[in-house]
Amino acid sequence: MNEQEFTVTFWGVRGSYPAPGPDTTHIGGNTTSVEVRASGRTLILDAGTGIIGLGRQLNQRAATSGQAPQATLLFTHMHHDHTQGFPFFSTAYHPAARLHIFGPAAFDRSLAEVLGQTMVPPNFPLTLKDMNASMDIHELGQTDVLRFEAGESAPRALHFSDALQPASPESVQVRLMRSYAHPGTVLLYRIEHLGKAFVFASDTEGYVHTDRRLATFALKADLLVHDAQYSEAHYLGLVRGLPATQGYGHSTPRMAAEVALAAEAKLLALTHYDPTYTDEQVDELVTCARRDFPNSIAAREGLTLDLLQPEADPVLLQQPATIAAE
Ligand SMILES: [Zn+2]
Ligand SMILES: [Zn+2]
Repeated sequence: MNEQEFTVTFWGVRGSYPAPGPDTTHIGGNTTSVEVRASGRTLILDAGTGIIGLGRQLNQRAATSGQAPQATLLFTHMHHDHTQGFPFFSTAYHPAARLHIFGPAAFDRSLAEVLGQTMVPPNFPLTLKDMNASMDIHELGQTDVLRFEAGESAPRALHFSDALQPASPESVQVRLMRSYAHPGTVLLYRIEHLGKAFVFASDTEGYVHTDRRLATFALKADLLVHDAQYSEAHYLGLVRGLPATQGYGHSTPRMAAEVALAAEAKLLALTHYDPTYTDEQVDELVTCARRDFPNSIAAREGLTLDLLQPEADPVLLQQPATIAAE
């Protein structure tokens, strides 16, 4: 039996494209990838460049434990900044690894087809078939629920009507919401385990009077991670030389804070920062969010949040990274 745990670790928090360099060393420059550990199970949200470091660590953990790597990868959508790390995800090349991959269907093509297109010669030397891990790839609809029963390391897809009975606290339940506030739509995820809830809402734009569907979906979440790509001034086109970004499908910290407030979330972590923003500019986003929702922090590379320790001071959680050196 695995030790009880429910943690969230950020491996990539940048939107649009990677942003390495001296101005982003605190927040990090990798694009979206988040690791969730739930009593021995590994779930990964998105495969931006952050997944590259995570893959190395998963393989290293497997070598240390003597157990084959196994992970469930949940895609919010298939835009570049959420898939571009996948061709370099070393766990997908591990011959003993098992990957359960879920994401939205895209128009008339299967998820496997769309994922395969991220690595096609001549744009990339290898194809999906060259990856050695055993992979099962499934599309998710809004009525699907994923559940890992107590003691199981692989999820089963259920229709939501079969998942109305409360799951046992030891199980892991993943529900999803389709957001229309991003080009091509996007899946937002709610992961519940041991009576705690984590909601991941990246690549979504707020509405006038708050995104009420999302506030209901995120109700009483212990941790809400929400898109906050643009400052209020940038969003409104008030920054000289930059266009207004209204309608691009991304939020301001104020929109994120409004959802956190309406949802009665315990902690809000901002994410998907504009790649041109420095560490100082991200600090300003947090200051802005705290005006409406004081318990707000910046998601940043290397930060691990432990959902089983809700009393932890979010300010202390901003201390140095916890990702082990390789
Ligand atoms: Zn994105
Ligand atoms: Zn996107």
